[in-house]
Amino acid sequence: MPHPARLAALQAIQQRTPVDCAPAQPLEDVWASDVFTLARMKSALPKESYKAVRRVIRDGGRLDLAVADVVAQSMKDWAVSQGAHYYAHVFYPLTNSTAEKHDGFISPQGDGQAIHEFSGKLLVQGEPDGSSFPNGGIRSTFEARGYTAWDITSPAYLMRTPNGVTLCIPTVFVSWTGEALDKKTPLLRSNAAMNRQAKRLLRLLGNEEVAPVNSSCGAEQEYFLVDTQFATLRPDLLLAGRTLFGAASPKGQQFDDHYFGAIPERVQVFMQDVESQLYRLGIPAKTRHNEVAPGQFEIAPVHEAANVATDHQQLIMTTLRSTAKRHGFTCLLHEKPFAGINGSGKHVNWSVGNSTQGNLLDPGRTPHDNLQFLLFCAAVIRGVHCNGPLLRAVVATAGNDHRLGANEAPPAIISVYLGQQLEQVFQQIQRGEVTGSSHGGVMRLGVDTLPEFPKDAGDRNRTSPFAFTGNRFEFRAVGSGQSVAGPLVAMNTVLADSLEWISDRLEAEMGSGQSLEQSAAAVIRQIMDRHGAAVFGGDGYSDAWHREATEDRGLENLRNTAEALPVLRREEVRSLFQRHGVISSVEMESRYEVYGEQYSLAIEVEAKVALSMVRTQISPAVQKHLSALARSLQQQQSLGLQPETRDLHQIAELHRRMDDHATALAGELHQLHNGDTAAAMNHCSGVLLPRLQLLREAVDSLEELVDDDRWPLPSYREMLFVR
Ligand code: ADP
Ligand code: MG
Repeated sequence: MPHPARLAALQAIQQRTPVDCAPAQPLEDVWASDVFTLARMKSALPKESYKAVRRVIRDGGRLDLAVADVVAQSMKDWAVSQGAHYYAHVFYPLTNSTAEKHDGFISPQGDGQAIHEFSGKLLVQGEPDGSSFPNGGIRSTFEARGYTAWDITSPAYLMRTPNGVTLCIPTVFVSWTGEALDKKTPLLRSNAAMNRQAKRLLRLLGNEEVAPVNSSCGAEQEYFLVDTQFATLRPDLLLAGRTLFGAASPKGQQFDDHYFGAIPERVQVFMQDVESQLYRLGIPAKTRHNEVAPGQFEIAPVHEAANVATDHQQLIMTTLRSTAKRHGFTCLLHEKPFAGINGSGKHVNWSVGNSTQGNLLDPGRTPHDNLQFLLFCAAVIRGVHCNGPLLRAVVATAGNDHRLGANEAPPAIISVYLGQQLEQVFQQIQRGEVTGSSHGGVMRLGVDTLPEFPKDAGDRNRTSPFAFTGNRFEFRAVGSGQSVAGPLVAMNTVLADSLEWISDRLEAEMGSGQSLEQSAAAVIRQIMDRHGAAVFGGDGYSDAWHREATEDRGLENLRNTAEALPVLRREEVRSLFQRHGVISSVEMESRYEVYGEQYSLAIEVEAKVALSMVRTQISPAVQKHLSALARSLQQQQSLGLQPETRDLHQIAELHRRMDDHATALAGELHQLHNGDTAAAMNHCSGVLLPRLQLLREAVDSLEELVDDDRWPLPSYREMLFVR
């Protein structure tokens, strides 16, 4: 018989029925119905205003205030007609979360009446009190003013909650002095940097018409669902997002069949609910079960422009969480909610392209397309090799450290996987077997038409952190709880830098009389000679690779966040972002500080939660069990029996060990000083985490010995298999 609290939870769950969910409506009726789309603008705005909006979306720049007034008016009218009374500037602080500043449309009039009002000025700029958002020392609170400014490239939408409808306006969030305090600003800048360099190279390659180049992103989100009845009994899940204790569930997923009763239905209804909300927001989501871990699922939208995809990704996370609640689930976006079971990641599929040349990472049908493709691919290879540590740093979080390198997710060593055929093409060019020389007017770089690269999952190397998958690269080391903005900023900037390098070389080669094709082959050869060490197609999980990568190839293995984040302070990283106008040195320092603080804070919270669970839940339970055991032994002895005392001794010993580790952890927590970011991170990774692990081992052994009716925490078996 389980502990009464767990029993009550189990019984409540057995009685649950799926939440009533509105019947599925035809897609065309709901699709983007809550979005102020371009189509809506087109029909609502005067022709000239609409054209002005299109122009700013395409070419950047500022919206004229008079036009903004017209847009604001029609946006408000639409929102009010849908029931909105409020609007919110939505922004993305450095915490991976989404923040909103809400305001009413209402404007009291002198005559005691009130009207709905919304001006262009209120649309394009807001002034939230930003002082409580982490800024890593850019602003002190007395000059805390931060501004939000409408990102016109990301459409406004309606957020529906039981509290009413709010018009949401995606914005950037910058300081009084213009420094980016958010994740959107650098993303927009990185896209602009990549666009500049991509266009330059495309022109060098002889393209006459070159449209703006944009990055695209499709992110696959993994998550766990746990019944809220259980989650509320677990302080660790509630406060740290992951279980700090929990003995492994007996192997196999086939036991206790009756527990499975309601799973598929409740989860399916939940998924349907999520999907229909996302469709209203114009988010092209596709859901499906994920078989990897029990209780784990995945949702992946179709790829979109990186900026919009990033905003949508944030909305997906918010929607998963809020919808789960309504269905009696708690959605866990933590990278490692359960020890010993696969964690959650977020594969970020990324490509760059435009309307004139198409997807630049898609091998084309003509020799010219292929040359272009090979150069862009080569740029990625160079980028990954020059900036492996940076790519590691942008996925460095306390949660993600539990996955990377743990043989369930890519290693912390960043390499790039091309697939056998493409790797061969690059090797041929490197060996000079393929020159760029023209032959009968036909370019012979590699092959005139490249082989068809497989796009199906079967042929892909799942152990690579950065893989070419037919027409895009897939960054697989990103954590499930992260904003995708940081990884996209890094990829765009790194690509911009390599494209610039390539254009410089190409110009030099062609200046010395070489043909375009010869020059391209020469540049690719140079890249493979210098940076081919980052290309790896083998098993990324193997020990052999760890040795080869670090010893023979000189790739860095930054095992945890404390090792990875200081990369953001390296001179070459600072100058890379500065040079391309993406992140200034001051902004980068603030990011290092904020992310470092978040890492230490996460582990500090874990340590505190663990201590309180041990002292107020686990230790009392163990002591009760020990007393009961002792009483029973005494009774047996008084009857003249010779009772077995092994259990008693073992539990007493484990209890003592747990107590010792808890006492040590309390002292070590005390030694954590948050003043020095690097020292705090090192203390967390080198002292607190190993101690938490030792504490956990003692507790998990106790869980297997203490009577089930005394153990207060829902078990792994219950949380993972009971719905
Ligand atoms: P898998 O699980 O096999 O990796 P999925 O179909 O789950 O593949 O996810 C692939 C993701 O990649 C989707 O979001 C898809 O839209 C996205 N994607 C496809 N082509 C591109 C591209 N050219 N650029 C960016 N993302 C892409
Ligand atoms: Mg994938």
